[in-house]
Order: sequence, then C-alpha cells, then structure tokens
Amino acid sequence: MKKAFLLEKMKIQIQDVPKPRPEPDYVLVKVHACSICGTDLHSYRYGEDEIMKRVPENFPMSSFYGAINSRGGGHQIAGEIVELGADVTRWKIGDRVAGVSGSGFAEYCSMKRIYHLPNELSYEAGSFIEPLGVAVAAVRRSGIRLGDFAVVLGAGPIGHLIMQCAKASGGTVYVTEVSEKRINLAGMFADEVINPREVNPVKRVEELMGGLTPNVIFECAGRDATIKQLIDMAGKYWTPYGQHMRGIIVSLFEKPWVYDLFDNNAIIAKSMELIGSQTYYPYGHPKDELRIAIDLMKIGKINVMPLITAKVPLEDIDSGFNTLLNGEELCVVVQS
Ligand SMILES: [Zn+2]
Repeated sequence: MKKAFLLEKMKIQIQDVPKPRPEPDYVLVKVHACSICGTDLHSYRYGEDEIMKRVPENFPMSSFYGAINSRGGGHQIAGEIVELGADVTRWKIGDRVAGVSGSGFAEYCSMKRIYHLPNELSYEAGSFIEPLGVAVAAVRRSGIRLGDFAVVLGAGPIGHLIMQCAKASGGTVYVTEVSEKRINLAGMFADEVINPREVNPVKRVEELMGGLTPNVIFECAGRDATIKQLIDMAGKYWTPYGQHMRGIIVSLFEKPWVYDLFDNNAIIAKSMELIGSQTYYPYGHPKDELRIAIDLMKIGKINVMPLITAKVPLEDIDSGFNTLLNGEELCVVVQS
C-alpha cells in the first residue's frame, strides 16, 4: 500500500510498504479522509528532528507530535473497517469509523481509538473529530455559560472551532484575526470579527462590552501580541456576572514569550484565572470530548465543512502541505 514519509523538512515522499496486520485488539481501516493537523504542519516546516528538540521531554504528546517519519503522520482519520484483529468483537467489517491514530497519511491504518461515524456525516467531517475534540475540551474547561461573552484570539482551525463551540454554548463571541480568508469564514459564525491590523482589538472589545471584561478569552494564535491582548482585555472591572475572567491558553508556542511582555502584576491585580487546555479526556472516558464532538456535528450544532477549503489525493500530499504553509488554504483533507 501507499504511505507518506517525511524524508526531510518540506519533503514528503510516497512509498510502497506492506499493508499493516491489525494487532489482536486493533482493526484495519481503509483511510478515506485524513485531515492535516497544525502539529503535522510544524513537523513539515521544521523537520522532525528539529521539532522533537522543541518539544519538552515530558510533553504528553511528544510520542506522536506530528510525526510523519518513522511511524507515519496524520492522526485525524476517518474510514471504513476492512479487517478485524483476533480479539475484536465490538466492530464489524464495513463499519464507518472516525478516530485518532498515528499514521493516517496512508491507504490503510491500524486503529484502536475509534468511534462510529454516523451516516449523516461524511468521511471528511469525520476527519475533524480530533481538532473539534480539542476545541470542545477548551470550551468546556472555560466554564462559559449561556449569555456569557467570549473573545477568541486567532481564527485558525482550532480558534474557529472554539468560536463555533462557544456560540453553541450560548455565548456572544468576538473573534480577532488578520487573514482575509479566515476573517470571511469566521464572519459566518462570530458576532464580530476584529482585524487587529485595522483597529485596536483591546479598545474594540472594551467598546463592545461597555467597559466590562469578557467572561472568557481563548488564546489560539500562539503569539506574544495575542497573549498581551489577553492580559490587557481583562479590564480592571469584573465581568458582567461578577465572575473573574478566565483566560484559556490553547496554542502551542514556538518560542518563549519575550521578557516583560506584560505587567507581571496584572494577573493578580485583575484576579484572572489562566488555564491551559491541550487536549481531551482519554478514550472511553464518560466525558470523552471526541464523542461529544461527533454528537455536536451530528445534530448540526457545529459545522466543520466550511473549514475544508481543499481535498488532495495522497499522491499530492506535499502540495497540500504547501498550500497550508503559504496560507492559500485553511484546512486540507488528504484522501486515499
Ligand atoms: Zn491534531
């Protein structure tokens, strides 16, 4: 079968390898759609050796941090079961599934962490349950409630999905973004999209909120400027309902924040809560956000389809990565 390998940075090659045999508790999935994750893109841009140096040793996901190389990359997978491991009883051949594994940029992939993909959802939509799970987890962790105000800093794929989830929670949601394509897409869902190149986002949020502090601010851009905005947007007043503002940091930062980025006493002075949110509950956990993600798509509360701006066959995966790097596309799904 065909499988993609990252030979060096910015260079992916398709090679012929034997079709995997599923371990006793795994199933073999014919991959129909595998969306490219931001972490895959990090590996592509810098090369895997470099990216592993940047990831702290105890980082929980470093074992498959965008790894396209030895194990193969692509973890946002949807497809159809074609073979069952010896101990598998829950699944049958032909089941449509979506889930997370380590090597979805291939024709077939051995998988364990899978969920039923309802007939209402396409394989392309199914390949978004993992990033949507990240967004669902961040929004649930934020504690946002009906009638709250939220700001999402950065409308890349994760920021965009967080915005849709915050809207689905009953919040009013303001988004900041500089890229025209992302602004247009966010504008389909957000209450207002603010372009920081045109207006001061801190002032604009203050205006929109009548001087009050948003209940929740999500940092989804991974830049010094946006972390500073998060701190600055927490005004000196309490939020509309007397809660303190929560800042949810969802980005992976490529560089440490610059020294003296913001007033060091601002966090206590504004009684802020800063929370990191990396990922979702483990497979099978009652609160597993991947299951919630599927349900939200199924009932139409979240629509991932407008995010998918391109689909490429496995053979053209390299050009798919390039169009993401140069900002031509927002999300690319690889089809095999
Ligand atoms: Zn991912």
